[in-house]
Amino acid sequence: MDISIVIPTYNEEKNVPILHQKLVEVLSHLKLKYEIIFVDDGSTDQTYSNLLELKPVKIIRLRKNFGQSAAMDAGFKAANGKLIVAMDADLQNDPRDIPLLIEKLNQGYDLVSGWRKKRNDSLQKKLFSRFASWLRRKLFKINIHDYGCSLKIYKKECLQNFDLYGEMHRYIPAILANKGFKVGEIKVAHHSRKYGKTKYGLNRIFKGFLDLFYIKFWNDYSSRPLHFFGLLGVMQYCLSGIIFVEQIIKAFMVKALAVGPLLLLGILLVITGTIFIMFGFLGEILIRTYYSKIEDTPYTIKETIIKK
Ligand code: UDP
Ligand code: MG
Repeated sequence: MDISIVIPTYNEEKNVPILHQKLVEVLSHLKLKYEIIFVDDGSTDQTYSNLLELKPVKIIRLRKNFGQSAAMDAGFKAANGKLIVAMDADLQNDPRDIPLLIEKLNQGYDLVSGWRKKRNDSLQKKLFSRFASWLRRKLFKINIHDYGCSLKIYKKECLQNFDLYGEMHRYIPAILANKGFKVGEIKVAHHSRKYGKTKYGLNRIFKGFLDLFYIKFWNDYSSRPLHFFGLLGVMQYCLSGIIFVEQIIKAFMVKALAVGPLLLLGILLVITGTIFIMFGFLGEILIRTYYSKIEDTPYTIKETIIKK
């Protein structure tokens, strides 16, 4: 298998037949052995029965709606291609960009991400997305403009031993770059959504930020949590040390120990500092378990269908 197309799909009944047809058109021109994998993420409309009409196709049907990341993860794990393309089912990404992605990848990248230079989305969505991409660029220091674009191509090895949780699909470039893979970017087309509705509302802002800090923490400290928590703890010890010295000198000068707010703060800092250091040790123990974990996924697959 040369290339696998992975498409997380949730209530996209009108889009899937059109997308499949466009994909077959583009892929058959490429003269590559390909597979098109739709992951039906618990759709409640006609998506699944429409998928059954398609050929060639691989359909993975999740038991319920587990979210885009889980659907992508299931698709990645079922993909046999040497190259793996991920894209949305909603026709906002354009299959005609796939050859361009392959071309860029062949210039020496492990993953190439799409950049929706001319986006066809609401103003609010565009503004927020630009801000989020800017912040991610600052935090992760990978020079790509658009973190939110689903259309990406990966070499198979990028996604081996790779698990996607929560809503982490937005951070795949950051996670992979941290593992040492080379990330590239090209401009891709972006169309407005014609059929179906967007699955995300404003609360993605809030979740996105929490995930952002988690990924930053994970990238920098997942192999050494003691350094993160330990540093916080030691800084608090130092601060409380200064407070205690000051308090003792003062006590000698006035010949009485005054229990004021500063002394209480010093004591508080010692206690919380100790807790932080203990968190650090706990973190170290936990990551040892994490890295030796048994294979598991936070979702379940109902059935996998392959039609040739
Ligand atoms: N999606 C999914 N499960 C979900 C939410 C979304 O599989 O719980 C799919 C959806 O069908 C689409 C892609 O993820 O193919 C992106 O979703 P959407 O177009 O709603 O996001 P937006 O483009 O508005 O950011
Ligand atoms: Mg969309």
